[in-house]
Amino acid sequence: MITVKEANKIISANLIDLPLENYASIQAIGKVLQEDIMADRDFPPFHRAMMDGIALRCKAWKAGQKRFEIVGTQLAGSPPQVLENTDTAIEIMTGAVCPQNADTIIPIEHIEIEEIDHQRFALITTESVKEGQNIHLQGTDRKKDDILIPKGCVLTSSEMAVLATIGKSEVLVKKNPSIAIISTGDELVDIQEIPLPHQIRRSNVYALQSALKERFLDSSLFHLPDDKTLIEKELNTILQNFDIIILSGGVSQGTADYIPEVLQQLGVKQLFHKVKQRPGKPFWFGKKENKAVFALPGNPVSTVVCFYRFVLPFIYKTLGIHDVPKYKARLESDFVFLPELTYFLPVKAYTNAKGELMAKPFVGQGSGDFANLLVCNAFLELPEQQTHFRANEPLSLIWMKAINI
Ligand code: AMP
Ligand code: MG
Repeated sequence: MITVKEANKIISANLIDLPLENYASIQAIGKVLQEDIMADRDFPPFHRAMMDGIALRCKAWKAGQKRFEIVGTQLAGSPPQVLENTDTAIEIMTGAVCPQNADTIIPIEHIEIEEIDHQRFALITTESVKEGQNIHLQGTDRKKDDILIPKGCVLTSSEMAVLATIGKSEVLVKKNPSIAIISTGDELVDIQEIPLPHQIRRSNVYALQSALKERFLDSSLFHLPDDKTLIEKELNTILQNFDIIILSGGVSQGTADYIPEVLQQLGVKQLFHKVKQRPGKPFWFGKKENKAVFALPGNPVSTVVCFYRFVLPFIYKTLGIHDVPKYKARLESDFVFLPELTYFLPVKAYTNAKGELMAKPFVGQGSGDFANLLVCNAFLELPEQQTHFRANEPLSLIWMKAINI
């Protein structure tokens, strides 16, 4: 049996290749960028007014002038005017180009307007004026040709704003993998069915499909009964049509646990079976050509743990996401786990008054107790070589939820 670390290493060494594609930027939310995105011009592209007010030459104010004739109006979207006479000022709006020869903007809150014979004058009512104030100078955020978004970035709303600004309507991205999620087991019926007393409704596949959906990944669902011949036939077709296959159930020692055997018959090479962990010990992983197969134990908490600890990181690496953040949280209270297994402790992660990320354990009733996960948002990974964990000890945190509210 291998350790969690070893399992992770094997999985990371067996990524699959996915093709690249051009994608309409505004549809590409959640996609992984495969090109560096450069600034098409300076950010901001001109000296930009940051406030509504008047633009003037600071030298005049410094020389003691407090009253300026307003000789024009500089609106956003108009070409720059010229401040011909530096004893005068130009009324200006946020987002407008700073007029030539002006170098300072006094906000409207700091002036009083006087009107005499259709002439307007601004009386400056503040003593604090700094040369250059309220002007966002051209190129101070980014310069033309600077890399704005690096390859490997997941496109979110922030990237959308930048792509739109530079007029990039198409981006090169990794094509998402096609993913099949398969439940197995004769005891399982679907949502709309009424289970007999000895049956249950299948839940794992919906948990996984939703977890993928939260990350903008589509998947297709299948169900297989505990029938070797049928499993072989159906799996054979599924293997031809999908890049990543996630099975739940049928990988333990039971007499109806056919999955590992059938997968190998179908030419999927077993890369490991069983990991020193709880829950999820019977976890199986294999590969056939450019396809990866994750056969997860069917117990709902086991399925979920294996998915977040192994499957999702595999997908992220396959997509070429750079800098996937790693988190640590402090245990809220002492915790003991004696078996020589990595234990994935269900927790609720929160920030304490000191601003530290804490983890409150919710042990639950074992790998079947998926209702316990309702109060949890993460797992804490307790390494197998340690048995006693102290309150405040920082440990690796595996987030479960993409929607953080
Ligand atoms: P297995 O790994 O097939 O031995 O299943 C272990 C336990 O998980 C059994 O109690 C199954 O009924 C349950 N189980 C398996 N698959 C699912 C599923 N898709 N949804 C809910 N429970 C499941
Ligand atoms: Mg089963």
